[in-house]
Amino acid sequence: MTETRSTCPYCGVGCGVIIESDGPQISGVRGDPDHPANFGKLCTKGSTLHLTATPAITRQTRLLQPLLRQQRGQAPVALGWDAALDRVASEFGRIVREHGPDAVGFYISGQLLTEDYYVFNKLAKGLIGTNNVDTNSRLCMSSAVAGYKLTLGADAPPACYDDVNHAQCLFIVGSNAAYAHPILFRRIEAAKQNNPGMKVIVADPRRTDTAEQADLYLPLLPGTDVMLFHGLLHIMLWEGWTDASYIAAHTNGFNELKALVRECTPDVVAQTCGLKKEDLFTAAQWFAQSPATLSLYCQGLNQSSSGTAKNATLINLHLATGQIGKPGAGPFSLTGQPNAMGGREVGGLANLLSAHRDLANPAHRAEVAALWGVADVPSKPGKTAVEMFQAAADGEIKALWIACTNPAQSMPDQATVRRALQRAEFVVVQEAFATAATCDFADLLLPATTWGEKEGTVTNSERRISRVRAAVPPAGEARHDWRIAVDVARRLEAQLRPGLPTLFPYETPESIWNEHRESTRGRDLDITGLSYDMLEQRGPQQWPLREGEKTGRERLYADGVFPTADGKARFSALPYKPVAEQRESRFPFSLTTGRLRDHWHGMTRTGTIGRLFGHVAEPSVQMNPQDMERRGLKNGELVHVTSKRGSVVLPVQGSRTVHTAQAFIAMHWGPEYLSGRSSQGEPLAGVNALTTSAYCPTSKQPELKHAAVKILKA
Ligand code: SF4
Repeated sequence: MTETRSTCPYCGVGCGVIIESDGPQISGVRGDPDHPANFGKLCTKGSTLHLTATPAITRQTRLLQPLLRQQRGQAPVALGWDAALDRVASEFGRIVREHGPDAVGFYISGQLLTEDYYVFNKLAKGLIGTNNVDTNSRLCMSSAVAGYKLTLGADAPPACYDDVNHAQCLFIVGSNAAYAHPILFRRIEAAKQNNPGMKVIVADPRRTDTAEQADLYLPLLPGTDVMLFHGLLHIMLWEGWTDASYIAAHTNGFNELKALVRECTPDVVAQTCGLKKEDLFTAAQWFAQSPATLSLYCQGLNQSSSGTAKNATLINLHLATGQIGKPGAGPFSLTGQPNAMGGREVGGLANLLSAHRDLANPAHRAEVAALWGVADVPSKPGKTAVEMFQAAADGEIKALWIACTNPAQSMPDQATVRRALQRAEFVVVQEAFATAATCDFADLLLPATTWGEKEGTVTNSERRISRVRAAVPPAGEARHDWRIAVDVARRLEAQLRPGLPTLFPYETPESIWNEHRESTRGRDLDITGLSYDMLEQRGPQQWPLREGEKTGRERLYADGVFPTADGKARFSALPYKPVAEQRESRFPFSLTTGRLRDHWHGMTRTGTIGRLFGHVAEPSVQMNPQDMERRGLKNGELVHVTSKRGSVVLPVQGSRTVHTAQAFIAMHWGPEYLSGRSSQGEPLAGVNALTTSAYCPTSKQPELKHAAVKILKA
């Protein structure tokens, strides 16, 4: 048996795993006792990874060779790799020649490795000359990115996991960490056990398993977080609980914010958020007066039409109370996906450039162009996820290359996404799993390697870079994501810059990573002191880790200096806005969405393991029993859940975790479990038949967490 150290491919906790293999087969997995994210522990998903890679499962689930669909609707037929790569290059080249570079789009993934991400970004922005490269991280962390940049000056989460052990108050908001980040939640439980005096506040519309552990549970109405944060600041100001000296020394913009929150009285906030006034006072006092307060937050803040405002106004509370830059204190966004951070580091979003540079900044564009050896990087902002699929549905984007993500299930407003995939002239799907719903829409399917087969790096929520290592050879003819992108890029170079030296000289992931490392020199995420060798010798490391430094930075801003022009953080005076689609008489329920404990994303991997259905066996819509009684509904009865965009049919289940006038459906169930129709009658599947593509005007992250629905007996 061989043992290989790697990283779990699921959530942003980024647990270290040891893969056990016998020859070409993965035979087991266990937690890596030396990895600082998990110290040997794994949750149900991580500990069953090996079961998703058995030959019997692989034969059924994996894409094993390139496949071409000659006509839409027909079964695809096998072709060789050279022909497949030639086809991508010729179709993308033709469309760029005929319609310009912005007629193509790349939709990639926070589950790609940093090296994969880097090549795709350079291919789109450096070679083709379009910024139309966005990622499912847009659905995951773009509001956190925007919130950090707006207030602290850089997309750099200031805290670390160890802060859980130093915090005296934990403010968990918009996060069911017990399900979404289980190993971090074990750490929270242990910290509470060791320090029973630590106060845990959980704000969430649903009484989740995380909320069950709270000393104070705030069941706020969906989408009212900004009002809650403004209201807490109002109380802190009134009671004299803010830190005037920290505000004066390290921040700008407090007076404007103070004026804004003046109207957010406890009466107004209690009414708007559906909370008790006394609970608001308790939360404000615990947050402000605790020696160290750590906020943990996730998609409840991010997946919102006010996502940036929610993030920024929570950070306001930390700045106003000086709860930042010291052990146990700070705002700490939990990344959903394993490498949402790595993607941001290489600028893998339509509005970003390498190493946290901004596309809108001409100096940043010039720096990246010089690094890449190209004349320029286009200044026109690329299409973000929702915009990209809308542009394809409108005929503006004619070719899509989708890698390691499943938009035909995961994007909101599925009816539009399907129209986009049908209207595009050429759709490439680069994917490990043939069972992903998006494969049905591909003209060309490119089989990619996956966990256990590929090499590279990922960065977890606490800025820690870990190695991902191959334990077994690729399944079938699958190739690495970076390799496929490089091979197409070289073919496109023959058309777009003939005779010039290649921009893609890479033969290993390390050579790509070294170029990425150089791009970070002098930036907030500078890793010029790090190398693959150092990761090999000393294990995972946090950034920044500059040349000459021996270790990375555990937490940021301890000196009170922020990466802004004057070194001060900025308060954000963004007002509260309600959800994009409010409940009304025809759609009287607020539908929220979220994760199950034992499944991941669209279940292409976890859905192959029987035991992971033991916790929740089938899809259902959860409703408060009072609402069910009023409508004469019984547990297990089939209901139509309908929004303005579509409808799904599924059993209803009473649950007191869901408040009245609200409903909950888990995000994972795909076409084989949860069918539905669009409002035009087209077949659709999954909860995203219902969700809205309304998005935050700053982060462009869609409001996957809330839609107005009606629920009627089927
Ligand atoms: Fe994997 Fe996240 Fe579970 Fe850790 S907590 S084992 S990273 S799914």
